[in-house]
Amino acid sequence: MDLFGQHDLFDDSAATAERAADPSPSIVYERSAKARNYRLTLRKDGVAVAVIPARGSEREARRFVEQHQDWLQRARARQAARPRAATTWPVGTHVLWRGELTEIRRAADGERPMVCLAADVFRVPALTGDLRPTLEAHFQRLAKIELTARTWELAAVTGMEVKEVTVRNQRTRWGSCSSGGVISLNWRLIQAPYFVRDYIIHHELMHLKEMNHSARFWARVAEVCPDWESAERWLKRNGSLLGL
Ligand SMILES: [Zn+2]
Repeated sequence: MDLFGQHDLFDDSAATAERAADPSPSIVYERSAKARNYRLTLRKDGVAVAVIPARGSEREARRFVEQHQDWLQRARARQAARPRAATTWPVGTHVLWRGELTEIRRAADGERPMVCLAADVFRVPALTGDLRPTLEAHFQRLAKIELTARTWELAAVTGMEVKEVTVRNQRTRWGSCSSGGVISLNWRLIQAPYFVRDYIIHHELMHLKEMNHSARFWARVAEVCPDWESAERWLKRNGSLLGL
């Protein structure tokens, strides 16, 4: 239940009807039985998705899109301005590691090829080529250990009863929490600053008391994690560096 601004969303409840001349280059139309209004979203891959409600028509949807070209252009501009992570990681690449953009450096000579990211040292098959698959596997392994331990620690501090902690590869969320007490965390949180990682853990822990995002829920979050708002801001600004 935790999605932090991975989509820009426009809802026709606050429509400003303005026309723009040129239609958008890549747009798909999707019919939804559940949707009650026409809706336009911009996916991470740059494709705009227009949702047609149950009783709507594609013709109306096209008009809706045309009326919201201004919004779409602004959304595309915002998307283009978001920081982007490198897709391949040769030695020398800067990657987000424990909250800082950190250079992948070759470690001091040893028998085996190793690289370091700040204070962490990782074995790699070779010092040439794309190190991303190897390093991300190391990150996941560390994430399972560190994020799990930290969750148990913060559960004890806040007096929450957690049944199980899992660390997974989640595509669209930082964490989730089941009513049965299972907390799942995105392994990429290990690349985020400590205060952000702790905020997500606190957020999920507080869901054990409030399975919603009500004012009562946020009051509980603020109590255990006073800087939650700056953590949210960090995630909005830098989530794209982590692939979210
Ligand atoms: Zn939540």
